[in-house]
Amino acid sequence: MLLGLKKTLRHNRIMSEYYNLDPELSDSKRIKKEREKARKLKKTQWWLDKVNKGICHYCGKKYPRTQITMDHIVPLARGGASTKGNIVPACPSCNRDKKLETPAEQILNKHKNTDD
Ligand SMILES: [Zn+2]
Repeated sequence: MLLGLKKTLRHNRIMSEYYNLDPELSDSKRIKKEREKARKLKKTQWWLDKVNKGICHYCGKKYPRTQITMDHIVPLARGGASTKGNIVPACPSCNRDKKLETPAEQILNKHKNTDD
């Protein structure tokens, strides 16, 4: 019985080592899950209301609903999640300009641009 317990502990340690050694794999799994959550959120009334309003979160301009895209404030690739607090409507140009920057980086870059 004691031997069995030891074996389980050893097995758990190997498993945790495996996951620690491969953070990229678990991260892509997480992103896949968050994308799935985002897809479900797109069908909610909460999101439809935002699309119908058509106001871009970044530039504040009004766009036709067909042009509004779902944007993650903190990108999934940077650890962001598909939650209502992290998802905003964005126009095509703002969504494209943003790329993989976090909000803090965007503020920094904005300052850089105005300094030049
Ligand atoms: Zn915009």
